[in-house]
Amino acid sequence: MSDWRTGARPAVQLGVPAFAVEERRPLPCRVDPEAFFVKDEHAGPAKWLCAPCAYREPCAEYAIADPTLDGVWGGLTRSERRALRRATAAPAAA
Ligand code: SF4
Repeated sequence: MSDWRTGARPAVQLGVPAFAVEERRPLPCRVDPEAFFVKDEHAGPAKWLCAPCAYREPCAEYAIADPTLDGVWGGLTRSERRALRRATAAPAAA
């Protein structure tokens, strides 16, 4: 299963090629994407799995740029990404 609204899977959506996954250690979100689409309070294991990922930074940037994505991307939950978007948004004109 994947993100029920977008059909997205982190590694696949990022275009991480299969050979890169098979030659090295498989990316956890490619092996077990269900673990990445859980409620925030259950996101600990996915966040832990993202921590050593070579794609963590572009993955997080990709997900921060797309507010429709659910799940853990780049070690960040949806609510954490929302908070980052708010924190970096330009202040409204007075
Ligand atoms: S950072 Fe996490 S979600 Fe992103 S590609 Fe790596 S394992 Fe997958």
